[in-house]
Amino acid sequence: MKVLVINAGSSSLKYQLLDPSTEEVLAQGLCERIGIDGRLTHKIPATGAKHVFEIPMPTHAEAIQAVLDALTSPDHGVIKSMSEIEAVGHRVVHGGEKFASSVKIDDAVMAALEECIPLAPLHNPANITGIKACEKVMPGVPMVAVFDTAFHQTMPAKSYIYALPYEYYENDKVRRYGFHGTSHKYVAGRAAAMLGKPIEELKLISCHLGNGSSITAIDGGKSVDTTMGFTPLAGVPMGTRSGDLDAGILEYLMNKYKMDINEMLTILNKKSGVQGISGVSSDFRDLEEAAEKGNERAKLALEAFQYSVRKYVGAYAAAMGGVDAIIFTAGVGENDMGTRMAIASGLEFMGVKMDVEANQVRGKETVISAADSKVKVLLIPTNEELMIARDTAEIVGK
Ligand code: ADP
Repeated sequence: MKVLVINAGSSSLKYQLLDPSTEEVLAQGLCERIGIDGRLTHKIPATGAKHVFEIPMPTHAEAIQAVLDALTSPDHGVIKSMSEIEAVGHRVVHGGEKFASSVKIDDAVMAALEECIPLAPLHNPANITGIKACEKVMPGVPMVAVFDTAFHQTMPAKSYIYALPYEYYENDKVRRYGFHGTSHKYVAGRAAAMLGKPIEELKLISCHLGNGSSITAIDGGKSVDTTMGFTPLAGVPMGTRSGDLDAGILEYLMNKYKMDINEMLTILNKKSGVQGISGVSSDFRDLEEAAEKGNERAKLALEAFQYSVRKYVGAYAAAMGGVDAIIFTAGVGENDMGTRMAIASGLEFMGVKMDVEANQVRGKETVISAADSKVKVLLIPTNEELMIARDTAEIVGK
C-alpha cells in the first residue's frame, strides 16, 4: 500500500510517499515559498537523486499538484499514476480534547478541526489548508488526520490541569495538551521492541530533543505527563523558545519596555532558548563549536539545556515511581553525543550508567548504556512519517 504523508505549514509543505508495510520511502520532498513564488525539492532515496523545480504556487493546491506531478513524472517519478496513492495521512498539530487517536477525515472531523484553531492559531489553519488542497486535487482518496496532541490525551487530570481558576479549563479548555505525540509514541514502541518486553510493563522517559524539545513520561505505553503545555512554548529551553518561566517576568518586561503581548511572545518564541542565552545560535552544532572556543554564554546555554532535561528526567522517574529506559530522539538527541552524555551523567544515582564507547554514535537505533546499567538508555531515530503512514493504512483499511 502506498500512502502519501503531508505535513503542511503556512508557506511550506513536506511530503513523503511510503509503503508502511515495507517501510520503504519511495520519494520525499518539500514545497517552499507557497503564496510567494514556489519551489519544489523532490528526492528519491533509492537512487539518491534530488531535483529542484521553480513552480508557481499561489496556494497549497498548486503545491500538492506539483508534488503529484513530480511523483508521476516519467523522468523523476516513482509511480505511474495518482491512482497508486491509496490514502493520504495529514499531520495535524492540535486535536484539542476531541481526538485521542488518529481519525478518518470527513465533514464532521473538518468542523472539529476548525474548532481547534483557537488552540493552535499558527499551525492548524495551515494543516486544514493542506487537507482542503488535497481534497481538491485528489478527490475521493481517503484521508486521515494524525494529531501531535493525541498520544497525550491519556494524561491524568493531575498532570494536565493548570492551577488556574477551574473555569478556564471548563469554559476555555486551558490545560496541558503536549505535542510531539507521534514521535513519542513511535520511539516508545521501538523501545519495547528493543527491550523485548511488552510496552504495558515498561516505564519509559522519552526525550525528543530537536529544534523544539519535549520530554514525556510513558507508563505502560501511555503518556502520563509531558513538558510542553497548552502550547509548545512550555518545558525545557529550546532552540529559540524559552520553555518554562515565571509569568511575572512578562509583566515586568512588558511594562518596562512598553511591549504588547505580541512583541513579548515573539521574544519568547523566536528569540529565547539557547539562542537567547548564547546570542550565538539556536543550532547545537554552532553552540558546541563556540563553547569549545571558550564562548562562556554558549557554554551556559548548553548547560542550562542539559540541566533542564536532566531535571525533568528525574521528575518523571519520581512521577512514575521508577523508570526502565530513557530514550533520546530527534535532531539533538540522535546526533549530539556530548549532550546525551552530559544529561545522563548526572543520573548515576538512579541507576543510569552510560557506555562511553556505545554513545559514540549518530542516528542509529542502539543501546548506549552500559551492560550493567539498571536503567537502559536508548538512542532511537524518530520516524513521524512512518507512524502517520501506519495509522493511515490501518484506519483506511478498516
Ligand atoms: P525539528 O524540531 O525542527 O524537527 P530536528 O529534530 O530536525 O528539529 O532537530 C534539529 C536540530 O538538531 C538542529 O537545530 C541542531 O541543533 C541539532 N543537530 C542536528 N545535527 C546535530 C549534530 N550533529 N550535533 C548536534 N546537534 C545537531
